[in-house]
Amino acid sequence: MHDDQTPDWDLETLAIRAGHVRTNEQEHGEPIFPTSSFVFGSAAEAARKFGGEEPGNIYSRFTNPTVRTFEKRLAAMEGGERCVATSSGMAAILATALALLQAGDEIVASRSLFGSTVSLFDKYLGKLGITTRYVELSNLDAWEAAMTPATKLLFAETPSNPLSEVVDIAALAEIAHRHDALLAIDNCFLTPALQKPLALGADLVIHSATKYLDGQGRAIGGAVVGRDKELEELFGVVRTCGPCLSPFNAWLFTKGLETLNLRMRAHCDNAQALAEWLEGHPAVMRVHYSGLPSHPQHELATRQQLGFGAVLGFEVKGGREAAWSVIDATRLLSITGNLGDVKSTITHPGTTTHGRLSDDQRASAGINEGLIRVAVGLESLDDIRADLARGLDALG
Ligand SMILES: *Cc1c(COP(=O)(O)O)cnc(C)c1O
Repeated sequence: MHDDQTPDWDLETLAIRAGHVRTNEQEHGEPIFPTSSFVFGSAAEAARKFGGEEPGNIYSRFTNPTVRTFEKRLAAMEGGERCVATSSGMAAILATALALLQAGDEIVASRSLFGSTVSLFDKYLGKLGITTRYVELSNLDAWEAAMTPATKLLFAETPSNPLSEVVDIAALAEIAHRHDALLAIDNCFLTPALQKPLALGADLVIHSATKYLDGQGRAIGGAVVGRDKELEELFGVVRTCGPCLSPFNAWLFTKGLETLNLRMRAHCDNAQALAEWLEGHPAVMRVHYSGLPSHPQHELATRQQLGFGAVLGFEVKGGREAAWSVIDATRLLSITGNLGDVKSTITHPGTTTHGRLSDDQRASAGINEGLIRVAVGLESLDDIRADLARGLDALG
């Protein structure tokens, strides 16, 4: 910790200690450097730093010590050589595409992706001549069949939102590499506390730090972790195009990482107990959570993940009207599309997060009218259960 090296510590230790290089002030906590630029001792030093002959800070769009602490800590936790932080999760995905793809290239992606990711791929990357094909997340044959000589990137979220489908990351990496493509995993839902995609063969891990890395709903940010080779390209994009992370947000995320392991374990405990309770409730037809033995890929999830996360979906009898009545009966849970927060949230995917999809797209994604998503927070389990029971019991 006193130099730039990260020792071979366990994840719990890396989360608290990695990345901070103490300044001459001998501070114990990680400092914030809210400065746009940095000064040089001489004209010659400035020339060397601008020329890349000597390392050092120049301007905070390029590098900033507070941002670097967050990057180093997250890289160590994901087991990657390098991390580049960005101004949002979407900026992380955009920077990845701009760094690694060009006109004529193709992406093969899971059809169960964050909505803005689909818009980014279709609308904006489409304009640049990059096309995306979508396949069913867990169907490896479909991924294989979608590959062409132009495929350069495979992109997936696992487990998916809100149905908790899972893909075998090692098998997907094998398909990608056999076709000379890279595999990027959006690890937002599990975080390095519960899943290490790079160790399973993925080339890039993408984060919306806005979610569990911060964990307390305070700031927007993102990051990409991987090998030096690809991350150097990504760094070039962020440095030149400008979607850099602010030092203040980087500091919040750095402090967020310190409690990530504890928080994720507590999130999982609450979610598991809630999923089991929901599965036994007479008004609930089906619960989607990879921690339940009834989940079709429970065995794979158990092997690949260290926990099952805190996002679950459940279907109530009675369609939209019933689902809305359960949501409207809550007093504690926040009705919001956000997740990754100590505060529990509840939403109706069919009319919010997945509302822009056509009926056909929604049906093929398995989003029906009775589906409710809960991102389970860290309030008392009894209180969360009671809040949902009010609406569910009324359905009879
Ligand atoms: C929220 C989210 C994003 C986008 O992140 P922002 O920080 O909101 O830009 C990307 N992927 C997943 C899975 C997300 O949940």
